[in-house]
Amino acid sequence: MAAEIIDGKAFAAKVREKVATQVARLKADHGLVPGLAVVLVGEDPASQVYVRSKGKQTVECGMNSYEHKLEATTSEADLLALIARLNADAAVHGILVQLPLPGHINEDLVINTIDPAKDVDGFHISNVGLLGTGQKSMVPCTPLGCLMMLRAHHASLSGLNAVVVGRSNIVGKPMANLLLKDSCTVTIAHSRTKDLAALCRGADILVAAVGRPEMITGDYVKPGATVIDVGINRIERDGKTKLVGDVDFASAAAVAGAITPVPGGVGPMTIACLLANTLTATCRANGLAEPEGLTA
Ligand code: NDP
Repeated sequence: MAAEIIDGKAFAAKVREKVATQVARLKADHGLVPGLAVVLVGEDPASQVYVRSKGKQTVECGMNSYEHKLEATTSEADLLALIARLNADAAVHGILVQLPLPGHINEDLVINTIDPAKDVDGFHISNVGLLGTGQKSMVPCTPLGCLMMLRAHHASLSGLNAVVVGRSNIVGKPMANLLLKDSCTVTIAHSRTKDLAALCRGADILVAAVGRPEMITGDYVKPGATVIDVGINRIERDGKTKLVGDVDFASAAAVAGAITPVPGGVGPMTIACLLANTLTATCRANGLAEPEGLTA
């Protein structure tokens, strides 16, 4: 039987709708408007596209968007001073610094200068520690999006075998921690893992965050498993530029029970979760109940 395609685009639209409804309620009941500040240093074209898209979706959900575009030559001290101002600004509930930053700026220092309560990317070391110890934190957007789709697809994740291929700080590790928090039995695989295909074939949930186009084929998939493809790779095929994941969709879909496509799977969920995190940060900052179904 062909795998069910998990439609991330439709799922993300539902998340945005939920966020917009709750933002309207916050405004009506408490006179509060969540605000997201996005800081872009330099002119990386891909980053500019992301920032534009984030700003547009923020406003569409009824939130305030504050964009700070700085020259590539901006000094680290000036960037840190801007972050200090945003930390102190009560109208700003979420701060996102678009990565990568130019080479002369220490990314860790910048991220760890953001107020952890406003760290909607979930990269601040305090949030990493809170998530790693199973406590309430701001959760990185891409893994949060994957978790939401998995929770919607499975009645319970408890006891399922999960393999996460990739151990990066922004995807692999937080994904593994989230699955562990939901009581999966989790294995993290990486470039040194032996017999990766056999390991993956033991997974009820297989998350690919590798950055290698179509590496995970049907041979890596347990029949009926749920496959989440985080990868975004641009390749040339038949003279055209094409977007593909880390999973070879056709062969994996022939074996899996459910699978996310690329494009239209995990990708759209990332910005939707950024909006959800901004709403969560606003609620927490004002001592209000957290939005249901939008947090880990
Ligand atoms: P990184 O390059 O930071 O990490 C890749 C990981 O994959 C590493 O842990 C690496 O292992 C592992 N790896 C590489 N080659 C192999 C291999 N042959 N076998 C097993 N493991 C391997 O990537 P990211 O985590 O940042 O991103 C992963 C993918 O997700 C990329 O395609 C990226 O574009 C995409 N992405 C998508 C997002 C979205 O919004 N949908 C957001 C963020 C990323 P080792 O540590 O040993 O080197």
